[in-house]
Amino acid sequence: MKFSTLAQYYEKLEATSKRLELVDILSKLFKEAKAEEIGKICYLIQGRVAPFFEATEIGMAESMVASAIAKAFGEDKDKVTKSYRSLGNMGLAAQKLSQGSHQKGGQAPFKVHPSTPSASLRTSSLRASSSKLSVSEVFDELLKIAKFTGKGTVEQKVSTLSELLKKLDPVSVKHVANIPLGTLRLGIGDPTVLDALSLAKKGDKSLRPVLEDAYNKTSDLGYVAETYFKLQEGGLKNIKLVVGKPIRPALAERLPSAEEAVKRLGGEFAAEPKFDGFRVQVHLSPSIKSEVIRGSTLKDLARATSGVEPRLEHVKLFSRNLENTTHAFPDIVEGVKREVGAKSAILEGEAIAYNPTTSEFLPFQETTKRRRKYQVEEMVKKLPLVLFVFDLLYLNGKDITEKPYRERRKLLTGIVPKEGKVVRLAEERTLKGAGEITKFFNEAVSEGLEGLMLKKLDSPYVAGGRGFHWIKFKRSQAGELTDTVDCVILGVFSGKGKRTEFGVGGLLVGVYEKKRDEFVTISRIGTGLTDEEFRQVNELAKKLKVSHKPSRVNSKIEPTFWVEPKEVLEIYADEITRSPIHTAGADKDGIGYALRFPRLVKFRGKDKRAEDATTVEEVEKMYKQQYKKK
Ligand code: ATP
Repeated sequence: MKFSTLAQYYEKLEATSKRLELVDILSKLFKEAKAEEIGKICYLIQGRVAPFFEATEIGMAESMVASAIAKAFGEDKDKVTKSYRSLGNMGLAAQKLSQGSHQKGGQAPFKVHPSTPSASLRTSSLRASSSKLSVSEVFDELLKIAKFTGKGTVEQKVSTLSELLKKLDPVSVKHVANIPLGTLRLGIGDPTVLDALSLAKKGDKSLRPVLEDAYNKTSDLGYVAETYFKLQEGGLKNIKLVVGKPIRPALAERLPSAEEAVKRLGGEFAAEPKFDGFRVQVHLSPSIKSEVIRGSTLKDLARATSGVEPRLEHVKLFSRNLENTTHAFPDIVEGVKREVGAKSAILEGEAIAYNPTTSEFLPFQETTKRRRKYQVEEMVKKLPLVLFVFDLLYLNGKDITEKPYRERRKLLTGIVPKEGKVVRLAEERTLKGAGEITKFFNEAVSEGLEGLMLKKLDSPYVAGGRGFHWIKFKRSQAGELTDTVDCVILGVFSGKGKRTEFGVGGLLVGVYEKKRDEFVTISRIGTGLTDEEFRQVNELAKKLKVSHKPSRVNSKIEPTFWVEPKEVLEIYADEITRSPIHTAGADKDGIGYALRFPRLVKFRGKDKRAEDATTVEEVEKMYKQQYKKK
């Protein structure tokens, strides 16, 4: 597919504010795509050159992109920056210059040698009125830009992007210039892509569950799409876990009482302490050396032993949000290498800070200080972490998610020490009856833990699913509600009176409607934030401000301005009530759910993506449970 064709689709996608139209346009785009390029298209429509969990960022700041545009079209950099400021978007500024440059003439049809895209890009300086570059060629150039490292990186990135822009038509220029800055805001969520893939090949959305299953196991839209296009439905069904690709985590349900839990879990069930830290998914692969020795060439061996070009990271860590956090926790990486007795494995656990002198667990506010990018080594010493491992999903080359919890736990016990220095087995007890739950719960809470996780003994690991295979019981912190609610900021009301100084006077927040891949409103939050929090919100809102309502937002309320649904807040409310003004769970009469007396508990930061916010289904359940509890 020509990149210019994809650019026309970008235009259509950008113009719609309806989710169903998004699906429709995307499915037409996918129908035109070949199996070899569908993966790349899936990344590009989300403005990326790799799945979201890979830290392959193009890594160019505004000033670098402006330099590349200036260089491409023979313009002054200051002029580019000025134009960008007045138009409010780098892509539009680039498009305008590109159009001007085309009108000045000098363009000739651009010839590309299909097998050597990079070479042809380097040698040609021709401008194209309708570029002939393929999607793959543009993708490969962007990927090349992302991979430059070391000395001279800035110059290399700028000149490669500028050469690329020269070869593109103005509409393509607009979108390519926005990709490095992350400002290609098409607002396409992963479920929307899955729906469109099904529609493209099957003619309806019936394959969404199968696609979703494959996606839950790998979190890689490009990989899922390519497998589907190459190997059809059968290939999708055969997708297994891959070490290095994060699995979407299994999630827990809530219930109002221990008695209700016993009804769900049956006679005997497992219980583990609920640690109040952060979730870590560990991917352990065979060491470079042993991998190479087993089946590779001497050249590979030389490379691996000299440590110049490691082919595989030995240990990778992912957060709850599936972000690669390996660099932040060198102590866990070392601990896993030293203490886990397996060649390859995928483990899940909760990392929590503790005081090694007193063997005390530290509160969440302390643990969370470890989630930082800088001065990592210093924090490792100040706040050492212990990883309490509670599940095993993959062992020595085999996906074991289908095995029941009881068996996975047994295998886990064989590879993780009970009392490791960094990696420890989470305590587990087999319980019967509500009384035993209450007893263990009180014990856990008195040790400074958050509560209990109850687990069904015969349940497989359900990737990406919230279900009654796991039930969480937290220390009562949420009044009558069984839990806090994670809400996404959708819009901002400007401040009045004292609050004008913060820029933000209130927020419109929503929850996630999973089936429709939409964000629906549930509350306006005006009080319950400290001055500092208002300032923080204002900073966030400025970054996420968009010119019109995003296509995946469904709201009856019009805020002062809309923001890209991205930032998740944990909200504590007294009650969930019915309300005609909100769209969350609205029935046929338009009555939805609302939060009564909402207060901010904390910013969830990078821990949760917008799609990980509380869902409408969960709100409905919590609404029903609050009355049972009373
Ligand atoms: P969720 O992760 O369910 O969306 P959340 O992030 O708001 O919700 P909680 O509701 O507090 O978190 O509970 C679930 C989280 O508890 C898990 O994601 C995991 O990080 C943590 N956890 C702590 N101990 C355990 C355990 N023993 N088993 C499973 N998860 C545990």
